[in-house]
Amino acid sequence: MFAPELRQGASPDAHGGLDVTETTIENVLTRTTGYLRSVTSHSLQPYCGCAYGNALCGVGCYVKHNGHLLKGRRWGGFLEVRTNAADSYRTHYDRERRWARRLEIAGRPGDFSIFCSSATDPFVPQERRFGVTRSILEAMCDLPPDRLILQTHSHRVADYIELYRRLMTLCDLKVHVSIETDRERIEGLPPHASSVEKRMAACAALKEQGIWTVVTVSPLLPIERPREFFARIAEAANAVVIDHFIGGDGTSDGRRTLRTALPEAMRRLDPDSLGIDYRDRMVAEARRLMPERVGMASDGFAGRYL
Ligand code: SF4
Repeated sequence: MFAPELRQGASPDAHGGLDVTETTIENVLTRTTGYLRSVTSHSLQPYCGCAYGNALCGVGCYVKHNGHLLKGRRWGGFLEVRTNAADSYRTHYDRERRWARRLEIAGRPGDFSIFCSSATDPFVPQERRFGVTRSILEAMCDLPPDRLILQTHSHRVADYIELYRRLMTLCDLKVHVSIETDRERIEGLPPHASSVEKRMAACAALKEQGIWTVVTVSPLLPIERPREFFARIAEAANAVVIDHFIGGDGTSDGRRTLRTALPEAMRRLDPDSLGIDYRDRMVAEARRLMPERVGMASDGFAGRYL
């Protein structure tokens, strides 16, 4: 899934322990496999590595187990800026679109659909400096995919509302904002990359502009006040997707996550949250407030709601 053709540039600098490097990539459109295979035909990573790797989401982040990508580096310690990503998108657009349309995804004829991003965050703080995601979205305005899912943990997603308003007339656009819990802090874990309040506010701003906005509660963490939490989501977003680390971390039994600090922190707050039944309870709670707007696991990420 992660392109081996990445070439290192020569302009490293340091941002508070984060090694930022400029690189180029041959083909920024990666044909999906595994969990994402039933969601979109392609994934797209504007960056390699993630500036949020030391935040709460980085604790359970499945990408940090990818030795091929890490190449011995610490997750959260590096960020490769793919400066030619938009050019690469334009170059490979025709070929990858033709390939996607020959596929069938979850029983439907193939569409050229892109998940941005699954192995980094398109809205790392460095995006304001380098604008790689912006340049890709501009390229998509010229050469739109059939479907685009923008997936982030950051309120900075609201920076490009004007671009989304153009894109949503050209393709099926969904903006996914991960909000895993209603708790601003979880004892024993680092702070969120972006506060719950800021992410909720970003969702509300997107929704208000008519942009289809989805809160992804993924991985589901213990929720203090489920009814209030889902009521806020129902206000701020068009849909919600709930995914547990069991089955959601790329293993069937959650064993990747079980090796991290996440389960112990979850256990301290609510031991029940470690079981898959907890997800089903939260799905039931959400469905009461958002009928036909609640998704579960990969079906939910693909926009198939209960
Ligand atoms: S933002 Fe996404 S890719 Fe980055 S550390 Fe968090 S979960 Fe991983």
